[in-house]
Amino acid sequence: MLAVLEHAYPHAVTALEYHSEFQLLVAVILSAQCTDARVNMTTPALFAKYPTAEKLARARQTDVEKIIKSCGFFRMKAKNIIACARDVAQRFGGRVPSGREDLESLAGVGRKTASVVMAAAFHAQALAVDTHVFRVAHRLGLTTGTTPRQVEEDLTALVPPPKWGDATHWLIMHGRQICKAPTPQCPRCPLNGCCPTPRIIARLQR
Ligand code: SF4
Repeated sequence: MLAVLEHAYPHAVTALEYHSEFQLLVAVILSAQCTDARVNMTTPALFAKYPTAEKLARARQTDVEKIIKSCGFFRMKAKNIIACARDVAQRFGGRVPSGREDLESLAGVGRKTASVVMAAAFHAQALAVDTHVFRVAHRLGLTTGTTPRQVEEDLTALVPPPKWGDATHWLIMHGRQICKAPTPQCPRCPLNGCCPTPRIIARLQR
């Protein structure tokens, strides 16, 4: 399955656009319950005004809210990215930490956000479970986990550690392009032959 996905998505990287580790961290926080495309439309104005943790840490929340409004949950996200920027500026000298424990100690940063930043910015071995990874892993029969953490444990037991970051991007791209919610495009899927879901769908349709 990994070989098929690697062949299908040879250039899989995060779709979020950024120019520093801090900008990636902010973009990932903004991407919760929002598309990467929408975040990419929003962040140029945000990063033009607040390009660093130090600058964003001193921002007024209402000013940030106006810029990020279209990302959804904008009040909470504005509060979180300012608090996160303050943490990065004051506790880490303006540099995003690379370790999971330090990342998860930042305001607004949970396990998934930390994993994305670790894999994309620091090439660390981390597998992030977002809505696409969660769905595709279940359809491929790779997990029966009911929480992102359980799915992560199942996937990291199956995928070699050096592939965790790439596997995250392959599964996300596959979920966006072919194994879509709510209806997977099984007839045109390169994993059709080894995935249990087409046979389950066929049985249900008999
Ligand atoms: S065969 Fe269907 S369910 Fe399985 S991974 Fe492909 S699109 Fe998803």
